[in-house]
Amino acid sequence: MTMRYISTRGDSLNAPTKTFTEILLGGLAPDGGLYLPETYPQVSRAELDAWRGLSYADLAFQVLSRFIDDIPPADLKALVDKTYTADVYCNCRAGDDAADITPLRWLEPGFGILELSNGPTLAFKDMAMQLLGNLFEYVLAKQGEEINILGATSGDTGSAAEYAMRGKRGVRVFMLSPHGRMSAFQRAQMYSLQDENILNIAVRGMFDDAQDIVKAVSNDHAFKAKYKIGAVNSINWARVAAQVVYYFKGYFAATESNDEQVAFAVPSGNFGNICAGHIARMMGLPIGKLVMATNENDVLDEFFRTGVYRPRGTAETHATSSPSMDISKASNFERFVFDLVGRDPAVVRELWAKVDAGGAFDLSQTQYFADLPKFAFVSGSSAHADRLATIRSTWEKYGVMVDTHTADGLKVALEKRPAGMPTVVLETALPAKFEETIIEALGQTPERPAGLLGIEKLPQRVEVMDVSVDAVKRFVERHVAA
Ligand SMILES: *Cc1c(COP(=O)(O)O)cnc(C)c1O
Repeated sequence: MTMRYISTRGDSLNAPTKTFTEILLGGLAPDGGLYLPETYPQVSRAELDAWRGLSYADLAFQVLSRFIDDIPPADLKALVDKTYTADVYCNCRAGDDAADITPLRWLEPGFGILELSNGPTLAFKDMAMQLLGNLFEYVLAKQGEEINILGATSGDTGSAAEYAMRGKRGVRVFMLSPHGRMSAFQRAQMYSLQDENILNIAVRGMFDDAQDIVKAVSNDHAFKAKYKIGAVNSINWARVAAQVVYYFKGYFAATESNDEQVAFAVPSGNFGNICAGHIARMMGLPIGKLVMATNENDVLDEFFRTGVYRPRGTAETHATSSPSMDISKASNFERFVFDLVGRDPAVVRELWAKVDAGGAFDLSQTQYFADLPKFAFVSGSSAHADRLATIRSTWEKYGVMVDTHTADGLKVALEKRPAGMPTVVLETALPAKFEETIIEALGQTPERPAGLLGIEKLPQRVEVMDVSVDAVKRFVERHVAA
């Protein structure tokens, strides 16, 4: 059986299906859609029983083998073994076993957090990005190719990408960030990397200016082809696939047998994390509920409550204390809607024609919305005061310090968790990453993992530039030619 990928907007007559490595380095499908497996691999009860005792890396190999069949198994095994090690995911709390990679911490019986943020940048994005770095290096070497990743970041994604790609052969990263607008810790995390293939550009502007430069460069097709410009954005299929693994791991950690069901609560922004949960459930993992939590930017919560998806403009997007969830439009949401509408690409094309024109769509009067409960989602939102209260109560009641995003997940989980079902909240960042709000909530500075103490004092490598597409292009040219 081979695994082929299709586009959510595809017309199967015109768009040939693709293999995993064919879609690995790209972003959107040529028709503007997102790639998904032609069918979801199904995991049998016997397989679940066999997987229960596996280490993270062995489990990752089993799950990812279902999605990747054009990399020889021995090579894939070596790649996951190299990725999921206690050395890479070493920033766990005292008392954790780093070899677990994603330790489960019960706060009370039946209610816990799955620690996904023990990687180098202290956020769950490392779980997938670290694998992506190794997959990119492997596939580029096979093809004798190279790639120049161009991105813009306001913090989390850029640092996760840089730590995943540092020192990788065939890969260069050009990462734009808004000059003077990130925290001292975030700046130090990115700019202190001394690897030759990591290039930081601070633009004298806002995040949106940086993002616009990236778009302008990517729209110059001749430049893009000549300099082999690529991206590692959140719609990359391999990132979603890598995230499916920890739902399996978390499920096994939270249960004693595969007869039980588990609810997962997920702090959400671009819908990438919870989309992986949806896929794990479609594969047959007994997930009873997917509890989706948003912050004040509640475009997704609104959809699950009302059937209306109404992306917001920049002016309507709030800057919150859980900034990695400050989205106006959830890029991975299209993958879920494809399944919701019975995998009919014509329907997705019609809905996203409205979204891409700056509009909204309304499924409230359709059978699709009537069928939504079949997908096991519940949702809720959380605001700054909830975040502070949850950080405080979690600290006082359980002695566990959580970050602002995880606090949003905990708040909504406590409201929406199904009675009698173990509920696991995904921890998407460590509190050390969001010191300011932790100090506001608790009056104390969160502990920082040993390896990151004093990083603000390390020498930094960054090129400061005006907001100029040309200046960025010249910078890329100089470094690629060299
Ligand atoms: C990226 C991120 C999120 C949101 O995840 P999505 O996959 O975009 O839904 C939540 N919390 C943190 C800390 C993040 O970095």
